[in-house]
Amino acid sequence: MLNVIPKPCSVTYSAGVLRLNGRNPSELVTRIGDKTVFPQGYRLVINPRGITAAVSDDAGYFNALKTLEQICSTSGSVLPSVTVEDAPRFPFRSFMIDCSRHFFKTDELKVMIDAASKFKFNYFHWHLTNDQGWRAEVPELPELCEKGSVRGSSHFGSVYDPKPYGGYYTVDEMRDIVSYCRDRNIEVIPEIDMPGHATSLIAAFPELSCNGKPIGLKTTGGIFKDILCVGNDKTYEIVFRILDSLCGIFDGRYFHIGGDEVPKNRWKSCNKCRSLKSSLGLKNEEELQGAFMNTVAEFLRQKGKKVIMWNECLNGNNLDESVTVQLWMDKTGNSVKWANSGHKLIMSDFYHYYMDYPYGMTPLKKVYGYNPVIKGLDHTGAASLIGIEAPIWTEHVRTLDRMTYMCYPRYIAAAERAWTPEDLCDYDDFKSRLKKLLPSLDKRIRYAPEQNWDPPGRSRIDETVSFFIKAINEDNIKNFLDSR
Ligand SMILES: [Zn+2]
Repeated sequence: MLNVIPKPCSVTYSAGVLRLNGRNPSELVTRIGDKTVFPQGYRLVINPRGITAAVSDDAGYFNALKTLEQICSTSGSVLPSVTVEDAPRFPFRSFMIDCSRHFFKTDELKVMIDAASKFKFNYFHWHLTNDQGWRAEVPELPELCEKGSVRGSSHFGSVYDPKPYGGYYTVDEMRDIVSYCRDRNIEVIPEIDMPGHATSLIAAFPELSCNGKPIGLKTTGGIFKDILCVGNDKTYEIVFRILDSLCGIFDGRYFHIGGDEVPKNRWKSCNKCRSLKSSLGLKNEEELQGAFMNTVAEFLRQKGKKVIMWNECLNGNNLDESVTVQLWMDKTGNSVKWANSGHKLIMSDFYHYYMDYPYGMTPLKKVYGYNPVIKGLDHTGAASLIGIEAPIWTEHVRTLDRMTYMCYPRYIAAAERAWTPEDLCDYDDFKSRLKKLLPSLDKRIRYAPEQNWDPPGRSRIDETVSFFIKAINEDNIKNFLDSR
């Protein structure tokens, strides 16, 4: 069996071997244009005469080379004669890094990007802003990084650090990441979270909140009630200037504008928000959020972007049909209805794909066993599911070592399930290929050791309970009660 992850759709062996004799295998590949090969897919043929890769696009060629790289990493300098025919189950295979709660330098991000590209992830969702820090330089609005990028201290769960903490990415650094990703067949999806989780924006521009009072960056995790005032023209002016600047850096098709966890208390008592709501004839604040998201999405569409939002944006039932919705937690069934009506959906179910949760709560086997085509999706709904994303939120992830431990090998399991046809997926087979491939990863990927992948019953519970106990502090409880 060929030791490749994600497992290819079809592998056929023939007679003979290809001896590399010190030659670099990627330089032996002849690229053949073939329109009959599926997008992102490839037909890789290795035989004693050489190597060919038939593809219909650049992504397919990149993926063929990644497969070849893995074959070489376990076959050494004598490659088997083999034909690999392959194409992804889902076109969209993404990972997300939260750089607001904790900041990761571009060199650290590159370690994550490089590793993800080996397993054919093709999107990097870059969560650049949240209540605890603004991370994207916008030269036209220097206040954002001056006032929004350094918090006074940090108090996530049981860990308190009295030192100021911050950082941001310059325009050049963001361009560098875009280019680094492009070289690895990865598109960067920037996210500017709004109208909630926007404390860092309000810290820079207090006039954008409903009461206009100055607030500082948050030092704990949570959901906070000061959000953008959507009845204020200035909000749109600043948001559009930010997006305009970032569209000049991020040249991909997608842009993410958040929309998750938006407490509506402030809007209910704000004259400007109430006045907008009544002038638009909206019934409630959920519809008001939908209207706000639609306005921002329209601005981005004019710039040629496809817009992604978290699933809460469906609550008003008035979301523009062109939006791609990302499901992370949805008890309403709105996301399933959305997809079943033919609208695009990305699956990021928190219970299976959030890498910040401990292995006890989300063991490797659970990530691998999850079918993203969830119950309730009909034929149209399944066809509207463009793929998956596995995020890592970083309230409790302070270092690259911790991040790589949490994400690897769970990212590899998600990658295989996003690529390989359902009927070819088998956990034991996956694990045996995984164990052979792990040693070839970059040494900076400090993946979890095998004994931690699938903790047995009792220790699963212990690990999960202890994670949540350590994750909550008095401030979180106060904020939680305060925001409701
Ligand atoms: Zn308001």
